[in-house]
Amino acid sequence: MKCANLHGIGDLRYEDIAQPRCEEDEVLVAVKYCGVCGSDLPRVYTKGTYHFPTVIGHEFAGQVVEDPKGELTGKAVAVFPLLPCFTCDNCKQEQYATCEDYDYYGSRRDGGMSQLLAVKRWNLLLIPEGLGYQEAAMCEPVAVARHAIGRLQVAEGDNVLISGAGPIGIIAGQWAKRFGAKQVYYFDIDPRKLEVCREFGFAEYTGAEKIQCVLEGTGHPAALEKCLEAISPAGRMVLMGNPMGAMDMSQKTYWHILRKELTVLGTWNSSYNSRQNDWQEALKEMALGGINVKPLITHVFPLEKVNDAFEMMKNKSDFFNKVLISMEVQDEQ
Ligand SMILES: [Zn+2]
Ligand SMILES: [Zn+2]
Repeated sequence: MKCANLHGIGDLRYEDIAQPRCEEDEVLVAVKYCGVCGSDLPRVYTKGTYHFPTVIGHEFAGQVVEDPKGELTGKAVAVFPLLPCFTCDNCKQEQYATCEDYDYYGSRRDGGMSQLLAVKRWNLLLIPEGLGYQEAAMCEPVAVARHAIGRLQVAEGDNVLISGAGPIGIIAGQWAKRFGAKQVYYFDIDPRKLEVCREFGFAEYTGAEKIQCVLEGTGHPAALEKCLEAISPAGRMVLMGNPMGAMDMSQKTYWHILRKELTVLGTWNSSYNSRQNDWQEALKEMALGGINVKPLITHVFPLEKVNDAFEMMKNKSDFFNKVLISMEVQDEQ
């Protein structure tokens, strides 16, 4: 069975490994597509992962090919990649994203850039009728964006400003519209990304618009400053972007929070529990057409070209939004 196995920093190999066996609480999934997440780039090139080798990939969907209980065989599934401990205080509250001792497909244990993976039943989501595997593989960014926009509490008629027009930013804009936003504005340093925004019917922020809600998705201090300047008094802001370093701000910027009496919140990952399940909502909304991720998929690489995909993304040799890896292998006899 073929996979993309990370043997060390900068050493990602397309190779054969033994086929996984599934336990009672697992099923065997034949992965169809796995997205390359922004976090996979540092995982491969600079930071590495918890142990080597590890099969990477945590944004994936596929078909159940073996179920020891015989219930799910043949079903199309997406996978929530986090495996909580179920015993810490946060888990007892079903706040699994903040579990103190979690496992994770594609970083702490083998993940989805693999032809087959044994997946716990608890982590499976059935893909609704009519939704393809490529879109279902994007369930994570859609769920993360939904969670963030949910935190923002967009009210009917609000203008929403999103800092960062990457895939999550564009999906967040679509959720904001679903939740009643009047218009969604963007700023981004990449004009090609702003072009994508326009294709989705969103506008570039000019500085003149009245902005009630802001989503900061870049983790850059300069963008944070711009957000705090743009927001109207009594506005709400959600911080989503992973910080690239220190998030210093000037005295003037800090004053915006005080003088405008802003509400500033954080968002982390997504909810996957009995009260709120951003993952189920994500699949449902994609199937209904309320969230459209198809135009965001700019590249699909076959698994044997996984290194080409990562090199392209690292060197930015091509304009890309979402890059998917297809597990269909060409060089098999
Ligand atoms: Zn991800
Ligand atoms: Zn826990």
